Amino acid sequence: MSSTKIHALIIIGSGPAGYTAALYAARARLEPVLFAGWMAGGIAAGGQLTSTSIVENFPGFPKGIDGPELMVLMQEQAERFGTTVFIETVESVDLKTRPFTVSSNARSLKAHSIIIASGAIAKRMGIPGEDKYWDKGISACAICDAALPIFRNKELLVVGGGDSACEEAYFLTKFGSKVYMAVRRNELRASKEMQDRVLQHPKIEILWGTEVKEAHGGEGLRGTLESVTLFQKKDGKERQLPVSGLFYAIGHSPNSSFLAGQLTLDAAQYIVTTHNTQCSVEGVFACGDVQDAHYRQAITAAGSGCMAALDAEHWLASQKNII
Ligand code: FAD
Ligand code: NDP
Repeated sequence: MSSTKIHALIIIGSGPAGYTAALYAARARLEPVLFAGWMAGGIAAGGQLTSTSIVENFPGFPKGIDGPELMVLMQEQAERFGTTVFIETVESVDLKTRPFTVSSNARSLKAHSIIIASGAIAKRMGIPGEDKYWDKGISACAICDAALPIFRNKELLVVGGGDSACEEAYFLTKFGSKVYMAVRRNELRASKEMQDRVLQHPKIEILWGTEVKEAHGGEGLRGTLESVTLFQKKDGKERQLPVSGLFYAIGHSPNSSFLAGQLTLDAAQYIVTTHNTQCSVEGVFACGDVQDAHYRQAITAAGSGCMAALDAEHWLASQKNII
C-alpha cells in the first residue's frame, strides 16, 4: 500500500530508543509513525529486553521490572500521545530522494525525517554443528529457553565473558545441574556486580582461556546436543565436554543491513552519527544500539532516543520550506 501523505517523522525500531524517540516526537505534535518490526533480526517487537527477565537497572523501578512488561509500557506511553505503530519490518529505505521513502512488505510511506532505532542482534559463532543443533541444545537466549526439559538438571555451557554471559549463566543455575562458562581470555568483561555473581556461585565453573570449537550430538530429527569440543589456550589441547546446552552470549551485530549503503556505517556496520544523533544524510537520525557499540544499555538507548527526537524536531523546524 502506498500513500501520498508526507509524514514529518518515521521511526524504525521498537526498543527503548525507538519508543522514547516516539514519545518525545508525539508530544512535540510530530504525529510519528513507528515501524516496530515483525521478528526483525529474530527479535520480537519491543527489542532485546523482550528476551530477558527482570531489568534491575532501569530508573524508576526500585524492585526491578519484567523486560517484556517494560516494553509494553513504553509502547503504551508513546501511543498515548499519538504515535502510530505498525508491527512490520522495514525492508528498504530510499534516502537519496526527498521526501524519504520507507517500505515494509505492507506499505510504502514518505517522510521528511527518519529516526533509525533498529537495535542489534545476538552474534552466532558459526562453529561446525551449530546449524544442526540450533534450537536442539544451542541457543542465544538462556532467559527464553532455559526452562525447556532438555536443559533440566543437565550440565550446560555458556560462551562469553560479558554481562549477558554472566546473567545467562546465573539464570541457568536455576535449571541445570552445573553451568560452565567458556571465557576466551583470562578475565571477564562483565561489570563487577555481575562478575561477583558468577564467581561466587557454587554451581558455576569458569573455563578460562577456552574456546568452543565444535558441537556434537545425536542424529536424526530428535538428535540433540550432547557435547562440545573445547580448545584450551594454556596447553594448546582440545578436550570434549559433555553438555546438553550451549548458550551463546558473545555480543551483538547492529540491525543496519536494510540501509543498503545509503548511510555511512563503521567497520562493524554500526551507523556513524555526528553532531549528536545526525547521520550522514541530513534529516536522518540514529539512536540506541544500532549506533552504539559501547554503552548498549536500555537507559542509554532511551536517552539517545530522546536526543534523536529533539534533533529531528529542531531540524524539521529549521526546514520551513518543507513543513
Ligand atoms: P533493541 O532493543 O535492539 O530494539 C530494536 C527493535 O527494532 C527490535 O525489536 C528489532 O526487531 C526492531 N527492528 C530491527 N530492524 C528493524 C527493521 N528493519 N524494521 C523495523 N523494526 C526493526 N540493558 C540494561 O540496561 N539492563 C538490562 O538488564 C539489560 N539486560 C539485557 C539482557 C539481554 C538478554 C540482552 C540481549 C540485552 C540486555 N540489555 C540490558 C541491553 C538492552 O536490552 C539494549 O541496550 C537495548 O534494548 C537497546 O535498545 P534499542 O532501542 O537500541 O534496540
Ligand atoms: P559484550 O560485547 O559486552 O561481551 C561479549 C563477550 O563475548 C566478551 O566477553 C567477548 O570476549 C566474548 N566473545 C565475543 N566473541 C566471541 C567468540 N567468537 N568466542 C568466544 N567469546 C567471544 O556483550 P554482552 O552481550 O555481554 O553485553 C552487551 C551490552 O549489554 C553491554 O553493554 C552490557 O553491559 C549490556 N548488558 C547489561 C546487563 C545488565 O546490566 N544486567 C545484562 C546483559 C547485557 P572478550 O571480552 O575477549 O572480547
